[in-house]
Amino acid sequence: MHFNDITIKSFHDSLKNGEFKALEVVRELFDKIKKEDVKIHSFLTLLEEEAVEQAERVDLDLASGKNISILSGVPLAIKDNMLIEGSRATAGSRILENYVSSYDATVVGKLKKEGAIFLGKTNMDEFAMGSSTENSAFGVTRNPYDLERVPGGSSGGSVAAVAANFALGAFGSDTGGSIREPAAFCGVVGFKPTYGSVSRFGLIAMASSLDQIGPFAKTVEDAEILFDAVRGEDPFDATSVKKDFFPENDLKKIKELRIGLPKEYFIDGLSADVKNGVEEAIAKLKTLGFKFKEISLPHTKYALSVYYIIMPAEVSANLARFDGIRYDRIKDISESKNGRSMLQEIYFKNRGERFGAEVRRRILLGTFVLSAGYYDAYYAKAQKVRQLVRNDFDEAFKKVDVILTPVTATSAFKIGEKADDPLAMYLSDIFTIPVNLAGLPGISIPVKKYEIGGKELPIGFQLIGKHFREADIFGIGKQYEKI
Ligand code: GLN
Repeated sequence: MHFNDITIKSFHDSLKNGEFKALEVVRELFDKIKKEDVKIHSFLTLLEEEAVEQAERVDLDLASGKNISILSGVPLAIKDNMLIEGSRATAGSRILENYVSSYDATVVGKLKKEGAIFLGKTNMDEFAMGSSTENSAFGVTRNPYDLERVPGGSSGGSVAAVAANFALGAFGSDTGGSIREPAAFCGVVGFKPTYGSVSRFGLIAMASSLDQIGPFAKTVEDAEILFDAVRGEDPFDATSVKKDFFPENDLKKIKELRIGLPKEYFIDGLSADVKNGVEEAIAKLKTLGFKFKEISLPHTKYALSVYYIIMPAEVSANLARFDGIRYDRIKDISESKNGRSMLQEIYFKNRGERFGAEVRRRILLGTFVLSAGYYDAYYAKAQKVRQLVRNDFDEAFKKVDVILTPVTATSAFKIGEKADDPLAMYLSDIFTIPVNLAGLPGISIPVKKYEIGGKELPIGFQLIGKHFREADIFGIGKQYEKI
């Protein structure tokens, strides 16, 4: 079996035709992971026993002539901030080091029902805060294309698992770019759905008005298959909505979609490789007959500042629940010092020692912007500017159907290059954050690989669609892949 060339679609056909058994695939993959993931470190927890059982069930179904779903037997990886009943879910944090989930996230339940196989839980920046997976409490993940470089983040383990051919697909979460940025750095497709398309129940929250779960895959078609399996309204998540989703097959309609190029995204700071890559993608789409138009999103320059007020505010509220009493706790709490009560001592010890520096930075920032006297100046104002960013997109979408931009300003950077400079790290997401602020769907699609510093590194481009028009960006993406 040449697993590297297989997609979800072709895997399904081969499995049905009896070219291999689900169990064989699972065994082969665990061998590969045990040999090769020592270098990459995409997984935090392997679920071998469960995966083998699930594969055996799929093989039995097939042997008894049952009709299997497109995801039956498909090996997947999942970010460690999504819950699988009975498995560890650390969110990349020491504070959840021993936490075992007592229920399945809605996406996990849906995928299990389809017969998908979870190989394991993947590494991530602590509580999804970061752009490089260097903020994990459990070590860095390396980019499979160049082990000296980051895979991007915060869903770095998931993306690396797909890029290293450990899994056929994976799931991540995207609050400001955590699916699309790593996808661009590792040459895979990464898709963030419209806010509300996919239930967040069972996702350990970072910033609830921005978080969305989405897939990584080798092709746009596979990403669409994975999205279709997990989307939909969920009574356990009041922000999830019921929307029909029609995979778009009508080529003529797709070809008529007008694509906008926002001038604020094609700036001097773009590295030459990204600029060339995105230009190449545009040229290819032009040869397919797509029409382009320059547009403007004038409030783009405020998006990063707005995000770094709203996101930490929500982080400080969401992370208040990790008090060292629920979920997981340090067992030996020393005698109270400094006149603190035992309860205060528990809070101090757990939160002070088990949250990493970036998480503490954001809790402090968030608590500050929400505090009396500063709320109006920061938080309330940021909410107003967020609306202006949304309005920009609404205006643009009167003129065009889809927007094309770079995903990142550079290709994957070196491990350690930005680790001590939070502001430089925050800039990794300038092209992805506005999409979360506006709640729109966005996809990162690989263009090609460029030689940088003697290594081939991938570059991606981003397509942004109207709310709930994921079909448009999938449609264009699938056309793009065909040439
Ligand atoms: N890199 C961004 C941040 O650190 C986005 C993270 C994410 O999307 N989870 O906030």
